[in-house]
Amino acid sequence: MLKRFHSVLFVLVVCAGCSEFRDSHELLHSVLWMQTSAEYHTITTVTYQRAAETLDLALRDKTWTAALEQAGHFQDLPPAVILDLDETVLDNGPFEGRLVKDRTTFNVSKWDQWIREANAQALPGAVEFITEARSKGITVFFVANRQARHESWTRKNLEQLGIPLPAAIDTVLLQGEEPHHWGLDKSSRRRYVADRYRVLLIIGDDLGDFLPGARDVPDNRLRQAQQQRNRWGVSWFLLPNPIYGSWEASLYPDGLSDADILKAKRNLVREMP
Ligand SMILES: [Mg+2]
Repeated sequence: MLKRFHSVLFVLVVCAGCSEFRDSHELLHSVLWMQTSAEYHTITTVTYQRAAETLDLALRDKTWTAALEQAGHFQDLPPAVILDLDETVLDNGPFEGRLVKDRTTFNVSKWDQWIREANAQALPGAVEFITEARSKGITVFFVANRQARHESWTRKNLEQLGIPLPAAIDTVLLQGEEPHHWGLDKSSRRRYVADRYRVLLIIGDDLGDFLPGARDVPDNRLRQAQQQRNRWGVSWFLLPNPIYGSWEASLYPDGLSDADILKAKRNLVREMP
């Protein structure tokens, strides 16, 4: 009898432990999906292939532009494409994986350390697209929200991946670069490119790579994306990023503690239709 009581007690304790504590991390699935799934590999490869197939059409049609910021007489400007870097060209999966393994959240010194390693691999299809665009005489600009202080390591990383950068012009346009005072919103950098080039395509993983105001609340973000339905898959090519981005930052106000951010996110999960 005593033995039976002990085994019932054991089951109760173990089951209580199972339901109350699971050693997990909110990025576990999204990191694994990007690192291991055939689905992610296929989406990025096909997106870059479709973008490459669009280049000739966009080159021929002098009225074609992908940039909302393109204005004036742009028909005879030289052609360019604008690509984001992180999770568009550069795969930071190993950095995100470290956060999962260490059970921690993003922090600037860890991010700086990862960028200094300059060892990010390329997303499937990215190098091939860039090589093809350059072979057609198209200038490839990288508009990324890495900080200006990251430029030399970022350039080193790109060149190691077989993405040579021209010496005559700066094509790596980062946040805070002087003398432009470029901000988090990429509109001013897209305008900088559009003033000098006809922008054929934009490729990114975040609404902010394409349009201003991407940090708005989720309903407004969706409305903005829907208003641009004629551009998606035509001159705007969007890659998936379930790990981070303005979609995630739009879910809670700035300045919350980690615990309050998790609480705010749990409150947003829908359990009823
Ligand atoms: Mg990105």
